[in-house]
Amino acid sequence: MKQFWRKIISGGCGPLDDPAEAPSVAAAFTAAVKADVYHESIVAEGGAGWALARRGLEKSLRIIWLAGRRPAATGPFKGPISQVRLPVGQAEILEVTPTAAAAAALRQALPWTAPQLVAGRPSIGLGDRLGLATPGHVRAVRGTGYVPMLAQQSIREMTRTRRSAQEVVDDATWGAFQAGWRDGFGADADHLKTPEDIDLCAAAGFTFFTIDPGDYVDNDAATASPDELSAKFEALPWPALETTAADTRRAYADVREDLAGETLAFDEVTLHRAGAKYGYAVAHTAEMYRHLVARLGEGNFELEVSVDETDTPTSPAEHYYVAKELARMGVRWVSLAPRFVGRFEKGVDYIGDLAELERTFVPHMAITERFGGYKISLHSGSDKFGVYAMAARHGGRRVHVKTAGTSYLEALRVIAEKEIRLFREILDFARCRYEADKASYLVSANLHRVPISCVLADWHLAPLLNQFDARQALHVTYGSVLAAEGGKRFREPLLAALKTHEEAYAQALEKHIGRHLAPFIGK
Ligand code: ZN
Repeated sequence: MKQFWRKIISGGCGPLDDPAEAPSVAAAFTAAVKADVYHESIVAEGGAGWALARRGLEKSLRIIWLAGRRPAATGPFKGPISQVRLPVGQAEILEVTPTAAAAAALRQALPWTAPQLVAGRPSIGLGDRLGLATPGHVRAVRGTGYVPMLAQQSIREMTRTRRSAQEVVDDATWGAFQAGWRDGFGADADHLKTPEDIDLCAAAGFTFFTIDPGDYVDNDAATASPDELSAKFEALPWPALETTAADTRRAYADVREDLAGETLAFDEVTLHRAGAKYGYAVAHTAEMYRHLVARLGEGNFELEVSVDETDTPTSPAEHYYVAKELARMGVRWVSLAPRFVGRFEKGVDYIGDLAELERTFVPHMAITERFGGYKISLHSGSDKFGVYAMAARHGGRRVHVKTAGTSYLEALRVIAEKEIRLFREILDFARCRYEADKASYLVSANLHRVPISCVLADWHLAPLLNQFDARQALHVTYGSVLAAEGGKRFREPLLAALKTHEEAYAQALEKHIGRHLAPFIGK
């Protein structure tokens, strides 16, 4: 404790210099605050010592300083102060309830608990629908060189989980603090469709914005005749695209790109098809980008473009068209999610022809290089264990795997092991809800293969989380589960159980997310 105390009062910052000191510091902290202190959270900053403590299921921030010398950095924090005598001297300890105001103050006091710009580093998207996954997510990425998106939620998920954008960011802040994660994280406001979505998420402190212009993609273009394509092309919103049909034809007439051995050229039908399919989407994305620039200022945010949730695959020519047009309009983006061939269904492995996926993945990567080396984002990217080795081989650190629901499934795995009755009820409820809830997701589970809980022995429950149909049924019904009876039925007992079994949940996530990263870090 002595060393750490000296560090605090000399205004030093950072965690314990000597890890061997951790047990004694934690013990002193724990004794002083009469609550368990998370070892990893202990840190010195601005003349104070900071830690996250837990008593029962309740957590609170504790800040300690030399008696009579309250540091300025602690000013915004409110709560009761108690006097304690530590082996190293008299101290004061402030107890702070983890409110939204406290989270905002914490991001100011300890900047690494705030989302950062991360696109320059290899990254992975780790959505957390329950707000309790961050410590496990941190364990999975520690030492890998990958920066996590610890806050990552789509508007759809926020609606279904009844969490505000602010809660999503705040949960990541508290989780990063608890886990002592000081290497930075991103906050991905996923699948934004309107300027209002942007405003909501920008106000909450998101730094990464995934624009989804999917509603503006014309999937009929995939099968339309040359005449129809020509008519669609002429009818594009040219003023919004800041060019003309004739100029666009001229701009593509001479395109000859070598994409990993194959030459990409645009005959008229190819250009018309790409334009007809994605022209409106390009215009909408540019409009969303301009809105972001006006709101946050160029360079203060990162942008992803995602068309993954559309009906027809994005061909390399179409990807090239989107990139070239966005670049011409001055849009700056850091990643793009094409709609790939085959099926990236929720919570399960890739369904489709891997060789065909690889044949298109290579030119997609080549196009990203041609336009500045942005990342390819693999949406519904969890559990695609058959794909990662190929993606890592061709894309390496420029592949961003985006996961979310899989961490909810890992939570259910813990429940299936530890809170058997609760899991049985969730399973039966999910069976009832699946047909209605699957509407907005790409899934193909057959309910006949999801057993009703009463026919299962206890030890059959957790293995259900390895079964295709049960995974999907549980995956897409989270909104109904969490909302049932205003949260009383499942949400509250589920969150309480995960807090009780916090260590088991962290271990499950470390293992499961670790499997996603392993092929990318050469393991
Ligand atoms: Zn997506």
